[in-house]
Amino acid sequence: MDIGIIGSGAAGLTAAVYARRAGLDAAVFERGIYGGQIAITNEVENYPAVERITGAELAMQLYQQAKALGAEIVQTEITSIEKKASGFLLTCGSGSYEAKTVIFAGGAKRRALGCPGEEEFSGRGVSYCATCDGAFFKGKPVAVIGGGNTALEDALYLSKLCDAVHVIHRRDTFRGEKRLLDSVVSRPNVMLRTNRVVREIIGNDQVTGLFLRKTEEAGEEFLPISGVFVAIGYEPDNGILSGLAATDAAGYILAGEDCLTSCPGLFAAGDCRAKPLRQIVTAAADGAVAAFQAGQYLTQLPTSF
Ligand code: NAP
Repeated sequence: MDIGIIGSGAAGLTAAVYARRAGLDAAVFERGIYGGQIAITNEVENYPAVERITGAELAMQLYQQAKALGAEIVQTEITSIEKKASGFLLTCGSGSYEAKTVIFAGGAKRRALGCPGEEEFSGRGVSYCATCDGAFFKGKPVAVIGGGNTALEDALYLSKLCDAVHVIHRRDTFRGEKRLLDSVVSRPNVMLRTNRVVREIIGNDQVTGLFLRKTEEAGEEFLPISGVFVAIGYEPDNGILSGLAATDAAGYILAGEDCLTSCPGLFAAGDCRAKPLRQIVTAAADGAVAAFQAGQYLTQLPTSF
């Protein structure tokens, strides 16, 4: 194939759309759900020209658009990427694929708190996705950890389902947008608990509460809750490119405006690469650029490739 695209979020599927419209043979490989983070976003209201759409709907439209243009979408996990003289060898559980170029659009993964109880109660009250798991906590008190857009959006979403939503943030100013914060503050069942960090998550079969440590004064407090939604940002998940492409100190792939990595023929698009703003629109833009540049790269290869 001309382009192997790893990841089916906004970057990967947009790359597939642009690749197919340029007449290139492209396959998208996805190990999880199509749409990536978009698919688990409750509502999107900052994608140009789309006033409001659910994440699931936007993901589905993008998926269908790529499919309709003839992109092959393969449900599998690519476990290694090897550079060969003729391109790249992509290996998965059931075999391997050869691609002349690769666009890596693997996104980023949710960061863990790292406190006692988090791993133990993961899936038993500790969640990293409010849209996926919020309904399990209908009518119950929950906590959202973090002060960014994700935490604020999670709090808004959960406030429609849960009795009480406690937003636990380690500072008293929020990184998330003011408009979102204003909406959160206007919800009577949302409580902001600032200058606090989670010391421990406790429970029996399921989570029953949190011990919070105050950051500005001595002391701690216990908060009885049934669910904890961790929303403290993302970290790269680029291990598969280790030794193949250069990354920054945090592990994000270094690529220029052309999305080309340090490895010729390997492009990085979306949240996996070092960039100042991680949004659906910037991921989609990367996907378009990476597909265009991959096309340019293909024209420079000897015809025997
Ligand atoms: P983020 O913006 O990096 O915010 C992470 C939050 O978690 C920050 O408030 C941070 O506190 C806190 N935090 C980090 N590590 C922590 C720890 N160990 N313990 C306690 N708190 C910790 O992450 P995000 O909210 O997931 O957003 C990621 C990106 O996606 C951002 O660029 C965001 O704008 C974007 N996004 C956009 C939208 C939208 O446009 N509607 C929606 C969701 C996400 P400090 O503030 O003290 O560092």
